[in-house]
Amino acid sequence: MVESERMTKGRPWHKERLFFLISSARHFVAGLEDKGFMVLYFKAKSTQAGIEKAQAEYGKLQVLCAEPSSHTQFAQLRKLGVDFVANDFFLTPRALFTSWAENQKTFVMENFYRAQRIRLNILVEGNKPVQGRWNFDAENRLPPPKNYSWPKRLLHARDEIDNQVAKELGYQPTDSWATTRAGALKQLKNFLDNHLAGFGPYEDAVTLDEWSLHHSLLSPYLNNGLLTADEVISACIKMYNQDLAPIESVEAFVRQIIGWREYINGMYWFLGPEYKELNGLAAKKELLPLFTDSSKTKMNCVKQVVAQVETRAWTHHIPRLMILSNLALVTGTNPQQFLDWMREQFIDAADWVMVPNIIGMGVHADGGKLMTKPYAAGGAYISRMTQYCKGCVYDPKKRVGDDACPFTTLYWDFLDRHKAQFSKNHRMSQQVNGLTRLSDLPELSVRAKKVLQGLSDGTI
Ligand SMILES: Cc1cc2nc3c(=O)[nH]c(=O)nc-3n(C[C@H](O)[C@H](O)[C@H](O)COP(=O)(O)OP(=O)(O)OC[C@H]3O[C@@H](n4cnc5c(N)ncnc54)[C@H](O)[C@@H]3O)c2cc1C
Ligand code: SF4
Repeated sequence: MVESERMTKGRPWHKERLFFLISSARHFVAGLEDKGFMVLYFKAKSTQAGIEKAQAEYGKLQVLCAEPSSHTQFAQLRKLGVDFVANDFFLTPRALFTSWAENQKTFVMENFYRAQRIRLNILVEGNKPVQGRWNFDAENRLPPPKNYSWPKRLLHARDEIDNQVAKELGYQPTDSWATTRAGALKQLKNFLDNHLAGFGPYEDAVTLDEWSLHHSLLSPYLNNGLLTADEVISACIKMYNQDLAPIESVEAFVRQIIGWREYINGMYWFLGPEYKELNGLAAKKELLPLFTDSSKTKMNCVKQVVAQVETRAWTHHIPRLMILSNLALVTGTNPQQFLDWMREQFIDAADWVMVPNIIGMGVHADGGKLMTKPYAAGGAYISRMTQYCKGCVYDPKKRVGDDACPFTTLYWDFLDRHKAQFSKNHRMSQQVNGLTRLSDLPELSVRAKKVLQGLSDGTI
């Protein structure tokens, strides 16, 4: 195994992330050695340098490797003559995904997901969904509940290997993340026992009293191999078959794993290495200072979400989309700078997953290849789905004035800036038409310029 300096020191990686990845790798080595394997663990400048070092010591042996998680690494390893085997981190072989994608006019995730349900024989009877529906969104996506008690979160204790890695990094890790297979399995059990049944209804809500709600917190382990997608899905289906979790939650979770996760990975490889560089909305603004320092904003939602990322390198799907990406989108932040920041900060980030989620889903830099319309939202929606607005100096209902919510102002300004492009998109026409009802558009443009400047100066 190679601990590549490029992957540990090459960028300003979040130390929680480095701790998790390095400690998991070292625990994995210890586990293999306990089973009697001989493991060489090299620290080297790059993966390539590590392999070359091994080849210098042991001769040109065959190097076998699971398909890696980025185009860059795939190309580098191929150049070195490495042989690849299909990666069991995923349920869909790349060739199979390509044959699906090549036959689509548009890459609608829902179509892929339904095909996956049938192919993998999950929650179906023949070609039909169990309980007669593919989708239970109508029962889900509720606003945050009032007076609700969230189950206690599982905390992960640290051992000697963890302590050694923490010392090397000069960092005190949180107790949020396991670094062993046993710890990851505990997290899975905790999710099944305490969260799966409630997963669906509040999957899109954001509360002040609990940062993980009923989310599984399994993405880091699925992405570094401590858990596999098929064992997670099997365990979840078992709960459904034993009547321990309702269909609306089980289906919502299954959709994430066999639908979204596989679709994102498939699209990453299908769309090729150039996709990462797209900037279809010509967004040029420099990364805002608030992303690297949560004290540089007064926007309560943004401050709290960035603070969560600062603490544990994680926040759930909706803050990633509705707060962080939405902010990058409506401020016209350069997509590659925002992508780099997300890639460096999140515990579960890898190229295959961040690139489509940011370039396609988050900031619509791909001109609509993945999502038919940009995910832009104003303060009213954030106010409905989160509890942040009550404690904020801004008013989500206002679009002009000194106390107007920056999201509300910038939402309309974003539509106005791109109206020529968006009016050609029938899914956007209603939103763009809304501009004609605004009598205060000139005033709003002035406020938007002030807000954009204030965000750059760290005063908004
Ligand atoms: C802008 C943006 C960036 C994201 N970056 C990442 C990332 O770097 N790594 C990552 O694993 N997920 C990413 N996601 C997807 C999702 O936010 C995380 O998988 C999820 O928040 C992880 O927490 P969880 O395990 O509790 O998820 P849960 O809500 O419990 O969902 C279960 C699982 O579904 C999978 N999943 C759901 N949605 C997606 C998706 N869009 N892409 C891939 N997998 C998905 C994950 O494996 C997740 O563990 C991103 C989403 C957005 C909108
Ligand atoms: S008012 Fe606007 S900035 Fe403040 S928390 Fe609500 S959405 Fe965020």
